[in-house]
Amino acid sequence: MKRMLQEKLFQKYPALYSRPEDTLMRFGFETHDGWYELIDAVSDIITRRCPDAHARQVKEKFGGLRFYYGGGDAYCYGAARLAEELSYSICEACGAPGSVYNNGGWVSTKCAEHAKDRNLDNIETDYEIEVTPVYGLGPGWSRLILILEKAESDYAKIDGRPPARFLVAVKNGKLKVSYSGGNEETAGRVDLINRYAGRIDQHTGRVLDDL
Ligand SMILES: [Zn+2]
Repeated sequence: MKRMLQEKLFQKYPALYSRPEDTLMRFGFETHDGWYELIDAVSDIITRRCPDAHARQVKEKFGGLRFYYGGGDAYCYGAARLAEELSYSICEACGAPGSVYNNGGWVSTKCAEHAKDRNLDNIETDYEIEVTPVYGLGPGWSRLILILEKAESDYAKIDGRPPARFLVAVKNGKLKVSYSGGNEETAGRVDLINRYAGRIDQHTGRVLDDL
C-alpha cells in the first residue's frame, strides 16, 4: 500500500496500530491500495469497540485480506472476519467490485478492468458473487447484503443457532441494516457493512471520491 495511505491509517488508529515494531506490522500494510477503505472501515469499527485490540499483521494472501490482531471480543471478531470475506469481492487495485482470478496458482482479486490489464480476463474466476439487486438497493450495496447474509448463515450453522434476520433500509441516502436474533459477531458484521456501504456508490460499488 502507498506510504501516504499507510501513514493515514497509523495516524487515525494509533491504539490499534500502536506496536508496529513488536509485530509484523513493521512491514506495514502488505496489500494494494484498493482495500484501503475496507481496512479503514474495519479499523474504525474495531477501535471504537475494542480499544485494547492491536493489529499484528495486515496483508493479502491467496487473493484475500488477512487481518490478524490481538485482544478484542466477539464483536470485533465478527467485523474482522467479514472484512476478510468482503475482500474477495473488492478489486485489490482500485476498490471496485471484483472477482478472484487464479492464474496458475497466482491468485488475486481484481475488477474486470484490472483483470484485463493483467491478461486475466480469460481465466475462470474462483469466486464471483452473482448480484441480483435485493431490498430495492443498487447492485453495489446489494452485493454487501448478500455477503453479509451468507456469512451470517454460515456462522449460524457452525454455532447451531438460527441466523439473524436482517432489516434493510435507506435513510438520508445511507444504508441502515439492523437485525434481530444473531449474536455479538452479527453486531460486528452489521456495523462493518453499514460503515463500508457509506464509502461506496450503491449502484457501481466503486469507492466514492469525495471522502
Ligand atoms: Zn480495479
